[in-house]
Amino acid sequence: AEVVGGGDKEVVREYFNGTGFQRWKKIYGETDDVNKVQLDIRVGHAKTVENVMKMLTEEGPLKGVTVCDAGCGTGLLSIPLAKEGALVSASDISAAMVAEAQNKAREELQSNNTDLVMPKFEVSDLESLNGKYDTVVCLDVLIHYPQNKADAMISHLASLAENRLILSFAPKTFYYSLLKRIGELFPGPSKATRAYLHAEADVEAALQKVGWKIQKRGLITTQFYFAKLIEAVPV
Ligand code: SAM
Repeated sequence: AEVVGGGDKEVVREYFNGTGFQRWKKIYGETDDVNKVQLDIRVGHAKTVENVMKMLTEEGPLKGVTVCDAGCGTGLLSIPLAKEGALVSASDISAAMVAEAQNKAREELQSNNTDLVMPKFEVSDLESLNGKYDTVVCLDVLIHYPQNKADAMISHLASLAENRLILSFAPKTFYYSLLKRIGELFPGPSKATRAYLHAEADVEAALQKVGWKIQKRGLITTQFYFAKLIEAVPV
């Protein structure tokens, strides 16, 4: 059995400042030097971002709304949020990711429209974040942590949110568990970190414990990308 210790976060940080940064920058980018699997993941992830934007905007305009994008990666959500006028606080455990997100935001937001507020970028793991935000979003981060760590992360994120919390995670369904087991039998070249799946019931229980309930659910799947998307609100 694998020992899941406090080292998880250090391994993840190192990965996303090194080989993981190079790999995910490509997947989250626009260049065509990606393989079929990476391209599929790019498309799946873009659908997740699109769904989140829909979930958020259907409840009203985002202008002036404070949003915390925890684990912001290359800024693929922070930038469209800023374009809608949201006041975005974007943070990530990886300094390389934050620098990339900041560059992208400058390119996309500062060029033509001076009305837009640049996201506030910060290198921070989500556990160290504080303050209060109308909305907290954390996309495709929980996959790097086992459920026993994810529980604390979820409750901390909920404590930062006043009105809603949006999370995505890789669902622990039979089909996906099987796919993952097959993947483990045939490990690829880059196995620096492992992927953890989460049962929706476990995520729901973690939210319930801190007085939150799920109000919207979505599922985004492509061939190689699976994400359960949930929006939670205080009870
Ligand atoms: N949320 C972004 C998106 O959807 O475009 C990026 C997703 S990427 C798969 C996962 C990101 O989570 C990486 O940028 C990684 O550095 C970050 N991350 C991992 N563990 C974290 C933690 N404990 N606190 C903050 N960020 C973390």
